[in-house]
Amino acid sequence: MEQNAKKVTSPSKGLLQSEDLYQYILETSVYPREPDFLKELRHVTASHPRARMATAPDAGQLMALLLKLANAKKTIELGVFTGYSLLLTALTIPEDGKIIAIDVNRETFEIGLPVIKKAGVADKIDFIESEALPVLDQLLQNPENEGSFDFAFIDADSVNYWNYHERLMKLLKIWKQERELAIELNKSFAADPRIQISHASLGDGITICRRIY
Ligand code: SAH
Repeated sequence: MEQNAKKVTSPSKGLLQSEDLYQYILETSVYPREPDFLKELRHVTASHPRARMATAPDAGQLMALLLKLANAKKTIELGVFTGYSLLLTALTIPEDGKIIAIDVNRETFEIGLPVIKKAGVADKIDFIESEALPVLDQLLQNPENEGSFDFAFIDADSVNYWNYHERLMKLLKIWKQERELAIELNKSFAADPRIQISHASLGDGITICRRIY
């Protein structure tokens, strides 16, 4: 089946110059872990003349990892095309997660939409057919949106990236500093009667916990 996909993704649109190495990465690490619905969307997109605009599956794999690490629940995507990164996001965020997805072109979004529906994640998506900039400005009119997004994927027209960046600086949540998190966590450990602790001052601090209840 991935003989097809080979044509779909090759030659690599990334920085890697060795086609063989790219195929090796795809076949060894990416395709075996790629969810079936994403495979299907990739194949549906393959015949589109601008298929190369789609997020590459290896980039998608990294994105899914980042979404998980960021614990992303509310996200925004600028540039949907047929929806590879959108479906990937929808499959990765929790059940009650939400994505605002913006693209000037609804037609391409509709190519992938049946797969998104089949995957059962369409409810998480609010697709807005528009230029991205006015939508960001509109979101900023409502103070509740400030600092409310956990993750943004900007994949639209690169000339506007700085404009997007400036708006997203207001819309994205500020990550708690590691220091604050560590202070909170250490307080909670100390208050947890289920564990015996030793807070060793080695390096930047190591707390050893032994479960006692
Ligand atoms: N993330 C997509 C690929 C996006 S390709 C995927 O994984 O497949 C870039 C998309 O940006 C195109 O669909 C194009 O219609 C859209 N686009 C270009 N300029 C835009 C703008 N000013 N506002 C919103 N969308 C735009």
